[in-house]
Amino acid sequence: MLRESGGAIKDKGGRLRRCFVDGDFELHVLSEPDGCMFGFQLLYRSGSESWFLSWTPVEEFLHFRVDVLEDGKRRFTQTDPGECLGDVLLERLRPAAALLEPRIRSFVLELLHHQPADVHRCRYCSARQPSRWSCPSCWLRACDGCMEAKALRKSRCTRAGTSHEWQLELAEVPR
Ligand SMILES: [Zn+2]
Ligand SMILES: [Zn+2]
Repeated sequence: MLRESGGAIKDKGGRLRRCFVDGDFELHVLSEPDGCMFGFQLLYRSGSESWFLSWTPVEEFLHFRVDVLEDGKRRFTQTDPGECLGDVLLERLRPAAALLEPRIRSFVLELLHHQPADVHRCRYCSARQPSRWSCPSCWLRACDGCMEAKALRKSRCTRAGTSHEWQLELAEVPR
């Protein structure tokens, strides 16, 4: 069961960061000075591996593999947010989150509920169409319409340093 660890910490932008831990999870939640929820970060284990999922309105979902180095520091390696099974994680987190304040619990669980579909939506159109195209370097996703209408094939990939290498995703896109 997640319980608060330490006190709230104010970051440079004035947001409050609070941390909740149990044997399985480490949950950080960020809220605005006016109390509105801003984002969350969740460290979780899957088998013998540790992973880190974050969501903010700016970057949306990011996912990292976490390796603990010999000196105890953590190394974060970014991976495809589509690799994170939000629905599986949700079932594990729901009972652990039972004692959290309702606004924190509903904010995190609601985002996790939508994660499998959200990470497969196009980042280029306001309709956020389900996407079939993704870049294997930066995991940006685009829908068929945007691939046709916009100059995405030549657009620059910030991680690869060249243009995106758009590939069709073969798996069924969650809706
Ligand atoms: Zn689109
Ligand atoms: Zn890319």
